[in-house]
Amino acid sequence: MSDEQRIPTPDPPIRDLGYILNHLGEERAGYHGAVAPPLVQSSIFAFPTVAEMRLGFADEYAAHLYTRGNNPTVAILRKKVAALEGAEDCLAFASGAAAMAAAVFASVRAGDHVLCIAKPYSWTRGLLRDLLPKFGVSTSFVDGTDVANFENAIQAGTRLIVLESPNTMTYEQQDLAAVAVLARRHGLRTICDNSFATPLNQSPIAQGIDLVVHSATKYLNGHSDVVAGMLCGSEAILREVFKGPYMTFGAILSPHDAWLMIRGLRTLAVRMERVAASTARVLAYVEAHPKIRRVYHPQASTSEQADLSHRQLKRASGLLSIDIDTDDVAAVERFCNALRRFLMTVSWGGYESLAFPVCAVFPAGATVCVTPIPLSLVRLSIGLEDADDLIADLDQALARV
Ligand SMILES: *Cc1c(COP(=O)(O)O)cnc(C)c1O
Repeated sequence: MSDEQRIPTPDPPIRDLGYILNHLGEERAGYHGAVAPPLVQSSIFAFPTVAEMRLGFADEYAAHLYTRGNNPTVAILRKKVAALEGAEDCLAFASGAAAMAAAVFASVRAGDHVLCIAKPYSWTRGLLRDLLPKFGVSTSFVDGTDVANFENAIQAGTRLIVLESPNTMTYEQQDLAAVAVLARRHGLRTICDNSFATPLNQSPIAQGIDLVVHSATKYLNGHSDVVAGMLCGSEAILREVFKGPYMTFGAILSPHDAWLMIRGLRTLAVRMERVAASTARVLAYVEAHPKIRRVYHPQASTSEQADLSHRQLKRASGLLSIDIDTDDVAAVERFCNALRRFLMTVSWGGYESLAFPVCAVFPAGATVCVTPIPLSLVRLSIGLEDADDLIADLDQALARV
């Protein structure tokens, strides 16, 4: 028996979480038993015969022909993320923004109308509010906390509903199952940005949502070293996306970034467990602090959507916002400047804790989309440091307010 034949391949595959993260899609017997998958850093794939090349061209979605379409390293990642989301397939993009843009462009044409939640991720808003009108597509932004608001905003040309549950500054949620029922009744397609929850804590496809978008830059990769996006859904819709914006915009994930992401995914379950435990402790601390006016998080005790959180979100992820009890932006700045464990920057979902002060981005008095966001708001991303350390850091910084 050769070495290759001795490599155990779990067959039939057990589609549990540990199996998906550690083994699914990795055909080790095909690469000499290498435990870490090969990084196939090749732009092109050669065919032995004209007949086989013809077959490759006939179905580029399935064939290995050119890395803008398919690449074996990227394919491993796609299989894992599709399985995590309970989707038929997944396409990998150069960023979460590229995944969202591709999903939307594949779903609308000139004259169509889109419904979107009131406070989506900023570049989702940019896509819908600023870019799509150039192509004759309009969008209404509605408060998604009540499904009736979507129903009331439906027009003759409405084709698509764009959700993000919860959003990532004030954590409003949409009832995904109820929106899916409404959308099907009216023949509308639905997209949900699931970056906050991760597929471990929320399953939009199981609730009837058509397409799931991830900024894989955040928890899925989890190491603040890759910008990536994922789009999950039925093979039929993803084939449409593939032939359209995926291949024409060409905003694909490189094999190297896919390889890093496969490595990042190995620890997704343990990272999310640790993050949930630390976040529960940080939440309890900030909710009791006299210098904090309000804590925003789906599982905060003041959340107005506690029932929905309970039903829809399995567990807390580590992004929360604190509204510091002051109208003096200088006091907010003193708090942020004093933080030592929380690095001050954009993004979230990595191994390291972060702080993002709203006052660094928006001028005083600005309103963000339809609803104002207070300048005293600071968003925190809880990383993998010790919770005691993080709380001590918040404590000394809050003393400067
Ligand atoms: C960061 C983010 C995006 C965009 O993802 P990129 O990978 O930065 O392009 C989309 N949605 C949400 C909720 C995000 O936080």
